[in-house]
Amino acid sequence: MPFSIAIASASSLRPSSRIVLMGDACHAMRPYMAAGGAMAIEDAAVLSRCIAGFDDLRTAFSVYEATRIPRVGEVQRISIANSWMHGPTEDVDWFFDYDA
Ligand SMILES: Cc1cc2nc3c(=O)[nH]c(=O)nc-3n(C[C@H](O)[C@H](O)[C@H](O)COP(=O)(O)OP(=O)(O)OC[C@H]3O[C@@H](n4cnc5c(N)ncnc54)[C@H](O)[C@@H]3O)c2cc1C
Repeated sequence: MPFSIAIASASSLRPSSRIVLMGDACHAMRPYMAAGGAMAIEDAAVLSRCIAGFDDLRTAFSVYEATRIPRVGEVQRISIANSWMHGPTEDVDWFFDYDA
C-alpha cells in the first residue's frame, strides 16, 4: 500500500523566545539521504554550543536558526528530489565533512 511521508519545512525550526525545536519535530524529511537522525544530532550539537556561547536565549536561538536552516533545507531539498549520489562524480564532502 502506498504511503506518504510528512515533510516539515525547515523554516518551522524558527524559535520563539523560550521554545526551540530540533530534529524531526521541525524538519522531518524523506529518507533518501538517510539523514534525519544525523540532522537531529547536528541540531543538538549546534544548539548546545549556541546556548553555551550567548548570554540570552533569543540570540542563541537566532544563531542556531541561522546556522541550521540552510543546511537542513538543502538536505530536505535533495531528499525530496531523491537525487543523492545518483551520479559517480557528485561532491559529497559538504554533507559528510560538516563540522557542527
Ligand atoms: C526506518 C527508518 C530508518 C532510518 N534510517 C536513518 C538513517 O540511516 N540515518 C539517519 O540519519 N536517520 C535515519 N532515520 C531517521 C531518524 O530515525 C530520525 O530522523 C530521528 O530519529 C529523529 O530524531 P528525533 O530525536 O528528532 O525524533 P525521535 O527519534 O522520533 O524522538 C522523539 C522521541 O520523543 C518521544 N515522544 C513523543 N511524544 C512524546 C511526549 N508527548 N512525551 C514524551 N516523549 C514523547 C518519542 O517516543 C521519541 O522517543 C530513519 C528513520 C526510519 C523510520
